[in-house]
Amino acid sequence: MSSLITNIQGYSIHDGPGIRTVVFLKGCGLECIWCSNPECIFPYPEIGFFKNLCTKCGQCASVCPNQAISAKVGQLPVTNREICCGCGACSAVCVQEARVLYGKAMKVDEVFESIKADQLFYQASGGGITVSGGEPLLQPKFVSELLRKCKEAGIHTCVETSGYAPESALRQVLPFTDYMLFDLKLLNSDLHRCYTGKPNELILNNAKIVTSSGLEVLFRMPLIPGINDDPQNIKETADFLHSLGGKTIGIQLMPYHELGKGKYESLDKLYRLAGLSTLEPEQVETVQEMFKARGISCTISR
Ligand code: SF4
Ligand code: SF4
Repeated sequence: MSSLITNIQGYSIHDGPGIRTVVFLKGCGLECIWCSNPECIFPYPEIGFFKNLCTKCGQCASVCPNQAISAKVGQLPVTNREICCGCGACSAVCVQEARVLYGKAMKVDEVFESIKADQLFYQASGGGITVSGGEPLLQPKFVSELLRKCKEAGIHTCVETSGYAPESALRQVLPFTDYMLFDLKLLNSDLHRCYTGKPNELILNNAKIVTSSGLEVLFRMPLIPGINDDPQNIKETADFLHSLGGKTIGIQLMPYHELGKGKYESLDKLYRLAGLSTLEPEQVETVQEMFKARGISCTISR
């Protein structure tokens, strides 16, 4: 069984307890306009091109089996994405690493071996593996098999989810999950649809299932200025968290950043939040205080 992996990132301290290895899967049911991982949205391989690294050597064009790259002497190569099949031949020959293949097919065992290499760090720090994306719950067979192997090896398991996945997929993965990072973006379903492409009823229902299962869960909110940092959304989110009960009532804020911007350009995708300012620390703390005033413990991801 295999899946398309965009990255396996070691030594993460922001994606669950302790030091963790994060496995990024390709494919997501949402298209949040603030997404910082645009390479993880579509469930097929894509080529990223970082023109600042390109020396215009033309090697990539000479190996493309589909003649999808046109490279004129002294000019940057241009990729026709309509006929690119994502084979990765061009990225394999680009010594400048200007071309990156997003989405490498990997088997469960291959991913597991890569994770296992850092087991000593997990044991020393209380860390483990986090499966992220994209949306891991859209590949429940792969994820549950990977997490099952990890648990058998004594590795702590975490799933980072948008919650936008069939309930059956969630229930398939839950038994192999020790900890969950669950995004709550917007409580108003119409606004949720406007900014992510989908309504939120499925997500809210899955949040209830996770909480009532007794699993340890950390709800997280990407905090996007002018989109979901208003008092009404904070109130509705706090009310929803109270309605869940569960082990802990809390949320972590993840302030908007522009770190994904370069990847949009590399994929010839429009960065729809161009010009949006990041939040000042005081603005984030104001939202934190709004949650606290409503009895919700609230931390800020740095
Ligand atoms: S192989 Fe790499 S450096 Fe050479 S033209 Fe292609 S993208 Fe640029
Ligand atoms: S990924 Fe394959 S098909 Fe696409 S541009 Fe590169 S070599 Fe051509």
